[in-house]
Amino acid sequence: MFPLIADPAVYQPSTIDLLADDRARSIWLGIFEHHTPGLEKLAAAALGDTVDAKRRAAAMTGEFLQILTDFRRDPTAHGHPSVIRFCTLRQGLLDKHGFDDPYLPIKQTENEAAMKLLPGLLVELDAMDEATRLRTLIENIFAGNIFDLGCAGTIAMYESGQVDFHKVRAQLPPRPWCVDDLDMLSARFAGTRYEKAVVFVDNAGADVLLGMAPFVRHLLQRGTRVVLTANTRPALNDITHDELVPLIHRITEFDAVYRDGLRSGQLTMVASGNGIPLIDLSRVSVELAQVSRGADLLVLEGMGRSLESNYRARFTADTLKVAMVKEQQVAETVGTKLYGVVCRFEPRG
Ligand code: MG
Repeated sequence: MFPLIADPAVYQPSTIDLLADDRARSIWLGIFEHHTPGLEKLAAAALGDTVDAKRRAAAMTGEFLQILTDFRRDPTAHGHPSVIRFCTLRQGLLDKHGFDDPYLPIKQTENEAAMKLLPGLLVELDAMDEATRLRTLIENIFAGNIFDLGCAGTIAMYESGQVDFHKVRAQLPPRPWCVDDLDMLSARFAGTRYEKAVVFVDNAGADVLLGMAPFVRHLLQRGTRVVLTANTRPALNDITHDELVPLIHRITEFDAVYRDGLRSGQLTMVASGNGIPLIDLSRVSVELAQVSRGADLLVLEGMGRSLESNYRARFTADTLKVAMVKEQQVAETVGTKLYGVVCRFEPRG
C-alpha cells in the first residue's frame, strides 16, 4: 500500500465505475478494441515481423478481443470491469505471447530526440523569473504529455509527425486551463519548501525528459528531496525504471543540479512495482512504499495515473495532478474539453 493514501480503507483507484455505468463501459471497451490492431502490428514488428511473430501477435489480439467481447456480454466476465482491469488483462496476454516491450524502439528514438532538446530548455528555464518558470514547467509537462501511444488521437498525431514539443507547447490552450490551480500551486511554492516529493512519471521521450525532468530539477534546486518513480515493467510507451536510470545519469553529464542531486542522495529513483499505464496505489513496490514515507508533496503525472486513476483519491501530502486530456471519455469523466489541460493542486487535508 502506498503510504500517502489518506484513507486506505476507502481508497479506490478507478475514477469511474464501469460496472455501474453501462455507457462508459461500452465506450471504454470500444477504445480498447480500436487500439488493439495497432498494438498487434507494433508487437509483430518489434520481433522482426517474422511469420512466428505475426502468428503470436494475431493470437494475442484474438484472445484480447474475445475478452472484450465477453465483457460486452457479461460485465463481470473477467472480474470487475475497469480500465485498470482491461489494461492488466492486455498486459497479461502480451506477456503470455512473448512480447516484452513492443514500444521499445519508439521509446528509444523519442528519448534520443528529447535528450537533444533538454540542455536548451534548461537554459531557457534558468533565465526566467520564478512565476514564469513555474508556469512554463507545467506547460512543458502538458506539451510532453502529448506523446501518448494509448490514445487514437495522439497515435495519429505521432504517426503523421505532428508531435513537436515546441510547437505543441506554443499551441496549448491559454489560461485559465480546464482545471487551473496554478495560482494556488505558485502561492504554496512561494511559502513552502517541501522536504520530500514523490514524483510518478508517465511516458518516455518528451514527456519524461522535457516535461518531468525540468520539473524535478526545479524541486531539487529548491532543496527538496525527490523520489522519482517509474513503472517496473513496460506498458505502452511509458518509461520504465530501468530505462529512466541511465537517462537521468546522462543528464548529469551536462547538468550540475542532477549531478549534485544524485551524488548527495537528494534524488533517488525507485521502481514503482507497476506494469500498466494507470496505477493502483494499493499495490506498489516495497521499495517505493518505504522511501515514500513522510513525503509532503506527491506528483501524479499523465492521464492514466492522475485522471483515469487516482483523480478522486486523497493523500496525506500536497498533491499535484497534471495531464493533458487526450480521450473524449476521460474529458467527460473529469469534466474538461478534449485536449484541455489539467493542473489540479490539492493541499493535504
Ligand atoms: Mg502513458
